[in-house]
Amino acid sequence: MNERKILVTSALPYANGSIHLGHLVEYIQTDIWVRFQKMRGHTVYYVCADDTHGTPVMLRAEKEGITPEALIARVQKEHLNDFTGFHIQFDHYHSTHSSETRFFSEDIYHKLKQANLISIRAIKQLYDPVKNMFLPDRFVKGECPKCSAKDQYGDSCEACGAAYAPTELKNPYSAVSGAKPIQKSSEHYFFNLSDSRCADFLRYWTCEADHLQSEAANKMREWLGNTGENKLSDWDISRDAPYFGFEIPNAPGKYFYVWLDAPIGYMGSFKYLCEQKQIDFKQFWQKDATTELYHFIGKDILYFHALFWPAMLENSGYRTPTKIFAHGFLTVNGEKMSKSRGTFITAESYLKQDLNPEWLRYYYAAKLNGTMEDIDLNLGDFIARVNSDLIGKFINIASRCAGFITKRFNGKLVDGTQYQQLQTIVDEHFTAWRPTQIENAFEERDYAAAIRQIMKFVDAANEMIHQLAPWEIAKKPELDKELHRACSLGIQLFYLLSRYMKPVIPGTIEKIEYFLNCESLTWPVLSEQQTVSELLLPPGHMINPYQHLMTRIDAKQIDALIAANKQSLSSSDKPGNTEPFTETSQTFAPIAETISIGDFSKIDLRVARIADAEHVQGAEKLLKLTLDLGHEQRTVFAGIKSAYDPQQLKGRLTVMVANLAPRQMKFGLSEGMVLAAGGNHPGELFILSPDSGAQPGMRIK
Ligand SMILES: [Zn+2]
Repeated sequence: MNERKILVTSALPYANGSIHLGHLVEYIQTDIWVRFQKMRGHTVYYVCADDTHGTPVMLRAEKEGITPEALIARVQKEHLNDFTGFHIQFDHYHSTHSSETRFFSEDIYHKLKQANLISIRAIKQLYDPVKNMFLPDRFVKGECPKCSAKDQYGDSCEACGAAYAPTELKNPYSAVSGAKPIQKSSEHYFFNLSDSRCADFLRYWTCEADHLQSEAANKMREWLGNTGENKLSDWDISRDAPYFGFEIPNAPGKYFYVWLDAPIGYMGSFKYLCEQKQIDFKQFWQKDATTELYHFIGKDILYFHALFWPAMLENSGYRTPTKIFAHGFLTVNGEKMSKSRGTFITAESYLKQDLNPEWLRYYYAAKLNGTMEDIDLNLGDFIARVNSDLIGKFINIASRCAGFITKRFNGKLVDGTQYQQLQTIVDEHFTAWRPTQIENAFEERDYAAAIRQIMKFVDAANEMIHQLAPWEIAKKPELDKELHRACSLGIQLFYLLSRYMKPVIPGTIEKIEYFLNCESLTWPVLSEQQTVSELLLPPGHMINPYQHLMTRIDAKQIDALIAANKQSLSSSDKPGNTEPFTETSQTFAPIAETISIGDFSKIDLRVARIADAEHVQGAEKLLKLTLDLGHEQRTVFAGIKSAYDPQQLKGRLTVMVANLAPRQMKFGLSEGMVLAAGGNHPGELFILSPDSGAQPGMRIK
C-alpha cells in the first residue's frame, strides 16, 4: 500500500455562537474519515480553527462590554470543549485571528494585486448614522421590495424568497440601533472574479476536473453560465472601519472581509502545526503539490469554497483543493431545528445531559451517504437504532461470550487444534467479511453503506452464536471444548467487527481494546490470496474480564434534552448562545408564529384615558391605574413602576386589552392590561399612545 499524505479541514465555526447538533454532522463526518485514513496507516493532518472576524463578533463583544479578543478566546475554548466531548480529534485547532492567517491573507492579497486582479471602486452602501458604521446586509431590515413582508433582512426575503440589494428595502432600519440608514459612498476593494483568467479557470476547475460532487458541479454550472457567457461578478473583499479583522496593507480604515480570511485560516492553522511538528508546509500547499487536500463543508458555503477559494489560490501561486466534500443540513424529526420546539440542541447540552456522544456518531454515520442530501435526526429512530443495533446486536456479541471465557477458561481463547477448527468455521461461514466493501464505502464517505454492511456481519455473528448456544452447552461439562470454541469464535468475530467500527465509535473501541487486551486496532488488510481467518487474534490470546461497554438510551433522557434546550431559550442572554449572524435576535426578539386575522380579532383593544395612577403599597413593580373607556372605568395593575412616575401618566391616552379575563392579584382585581413596548433591560418600557384625536373607548382594529 502506498502511503498517502493528506490534509483535511472542516469549515471554521463562527466565534459568535455555540456548536449545535447541526454543526456536528460535519465534524463527525470529517472525523470518521480522518480516523479511517489514519487507521490505514496514511499520514493525515486534520486542522480547523475558529472563524473570528466580522461585524457580529465586534458587536457582540461590545454588547458584553469586553474586547473582541476576549470574546473569541472564550468561545474558542467552548468550541474545543464541545468537539473534544464528541471525540473530534483535530491535529490542530487554531484561530483566524492569528499571525499565521494574517501573513497568508496579506501574501495572497499582494499576489492577486501583482496579477492585476484587485480593483478599487466606490460603492454606495447603507450607513447607520447613529452607530457611525456601514451596515452589512444582515444588519439592515425593512419591508421586502417584492412582497412587502415586514422585518426582512437586507439580502433576501424569508416570506417570498426574493433576493435583492439592501438599498431596495422599503422603510429600512438598522438592526443595530433601529435608526433609519442613509446611503453613503465608500471605496471598496474587489477581487476581479469576472476577469477571464478567473472565469475560464473556474469553468475548467469546477466542471471538467473532478474536484466536486456531481450535484455541486451542476450548481457551479448554473452560477458560471455557459461558455462565452460570464455570469461572475467581482467580489467585494473589503469592509470599512469599525470592523474586527485584519487591516488591508496600505489601506487605512479598510479591512479584509471575514470571508476572505476564513478559508485562509486553513493555511494559518496548518502553518502553526507545521512549526510545532516540523512538517513541510510547502509539500502541502505549493502549486504542484502531490499531497492531497480535502475540505469538508456544508452545502450553504459551496460558493465560497468552490469559486472564490480556488480562484484565489490559483492566481496567487498556491495549490487548489483535491476535492471539496459538501454535505446537507440536519433536520430534527423531519423539521428545521427549532428553538421553540427545543430541537435546536447544543453540543454542550447534549454532553451535560450525560448522553453518550458515540450514540450520535453512530446515528449520523448510519445516515451519511456522501451526497449533499439533508439528513434527519429522528429522535425515536435514534433511540431504537442505538438500542437495538449498536447495543442489542453489536455489544451483545461480547457480553454473551466473554463471561464463559473468563470464568471457565481463565480468559484464554482457544489455541492448537481448536484454533484451527475455529479458523475453518470462519473461512467457511464468514468469507464475506473481507474489508474491501466497507473500506470503499468509508473512502467514498458513504458511511451509511459501511454501517449497513457491518450490521449484516453483526447479524451473521449473532445468528452463529444463537445456533451454537453457549449458554446451553455450558450446562454440560462434557461439552467444555465446544463451549470454549463457541465463545472464542464469538470474541474473535467481535474483535474483527470492532476494527470495522473503530472510525465511528473510537471511545467505545478504546474500552474494547482494553477488554480484548490488544494494541490500538488498525484497519484490516487482506491480500487476495489471504482468507478472513488470517485477520483474527492469535491462538491462545488472553482477554480481560468483560466490563460494561455502553448503556442503552432511555427515552426520558431525550425528553430531558429537549426540555433543557427549551429552557435555554428563555435564558437567552447566556453568552455564546446564538447562531452566527443572528446577533439581531438578541436586540430584537424573533417575530412570533403567524396567526390568522380571526385570531387577532379576538383581542379587543381599546383607547383608554388614564384617569388616575398611583403607587401600590408593598408592590415593587406595579402601579394601580384607573382607566376610562368612555362608558366605564377599569382598574388595572400594570408592571410599569420602574419606568413611569404616576404623576406623568394622569390624563394621557393609552391602549388597553379590554377583553382580557380579570385576574385576582395580591393587591386587588386587575380588569385588563395596558400595552407597552419592552427592551432588553429593566426600566426599558414604553406605553403606547394613539394619535391625537382618538377618543376613549375607540376600538383598535
Ligand atoms: Zn418578499
